[in-house]
Amino acid sequence: EKTPPSRQGPPLRLAGGGAGILNFCANNYLGLSSHPEVIRAAVEALEKFGAGLSSVRFICGTQSIHKDLEEKIARFHQREDAILYASCFDANAGIFEALLTPEDAVLSDELNHASIIDGIRLCKANKYRYKHMDMQDLEAKLQDAQKHRLRLVATDGAFSMDGDIAPLREICQLAQKYDALVFIDECHATGFLGPNGRGTDELLGVMDKVTIINSTLGKALGGAAGGYTTGPKPLIDLLRQRSRPYLFSNSLPPAVVGCASKALDLLMESNAIAQSMAAKTQRFRSKMTAAGFTISGKDHPICPVMLGDARLAAVMAEDMLNRGIYVIGFSYPVVPKGKARIRVQISAVHSDEDIDHCVEAFTEVGRKHGALP
Ligand code: PLP
Repeated sequence: EKTPPSRQGPPLRLAGGGAGILNFCANNYLGLSSHPEVIRAAVEALEKFGAGLSSVRFICGTQSIHKDLEEKIARFHQREDAILYASCFDANAGIFEALLTPEDAVLSDELNHASIIDGIRLCKANKYRYKHMDMQDLEAKLQDAQKHRLRLVATDGAFSMDGDIAPLREICQLAQKYDALVFIDECHATGFLGPNGRGTDELLGVMDKVTIINSTLGKALGGAAGGYTTGPKPLIDLLRQRSRPYLFSNSLPPAVVGCASKALDLLMESNAIAQSMAAKTQRFRSKMTAAGFTISGKDHPICPVMLGDARLAAVMAEDMLNRGIYVIGFSYPVVPKGKARIRVQISAVHSDEDIDHCVEAFTEVGRKHGALP
């Protein structure tokens, strides 16, 4: 783990290393984690509401800013209500057990995030795992699951290792056909996918068909911490009564709430940041492909540069850092054997020059290590 003694941002200082390193491996998709207005909102919330609540929500840990943020999240996603958690990991850990009984079924994409897998482990529903984005397999599993009382299809909206986007239109059609609910984890979509950054459901035109959204405040929405569930009011009411990470863990600190609230204000005022992010992503993907690299996924700021070999990914990432670009190699067991890669993440605050510099460095390093001819 590197330990920068500076703020998160495209320019970064690394301990023991030089200044002016360009960070291409954060989930800081919109650059809001160092946005002056976001930081000011955190300071104001800290001064007005204090460091923290020393309490869980239902005892004496809810302030007006928590309720305001929940209302804002619901409005942003065009849903009835929302509930805050300390993280999206907690939101995922708390939902399935509260919602599903042994008479129900949950159908989960095999590549879903670890926190969805853990959340599902905690519930007593019947578990089906369908092949990654395979609609034939999902349909077969839905047919089998007809014998259960209620069916919930659970998928990441965007998958963080490959930068691929779940086929939500098809999933929602199948859900309709087999009377199932749809749950999506939007950690890598909220704030920037879709014309107004609402997420995968907006991008694919199914905002009215997805029932439940879980997402994080720790990535595009200011990057501090926190997570939430948004959806129908009766579901949110149920979670407030039954969801264990909500009931038995401390309230989000006011400064963190202030950051997320300001990030949402900025996004609801204008879609300019989300749009600029899409243009930067397009620039990186097309220049890298033209240089001869294979980039997995499509139209997503997660741009995995596929290399295959674990050692190659590690030495190339190290050599990129020598050229002032901070990226990370991923290999087995984080990704399947033979699918090692360097995962690049684009941010709205990368300049075109930053992106071009990154592509040039990749091209040099790729030639040096034999990844390019
Ligand atoms: N879901 C997905 C798809 C994620 O990528 C992550 C974080 O990496 C989480 C959930 C957990 O989010 P948080 O950091 O808010 O706990």
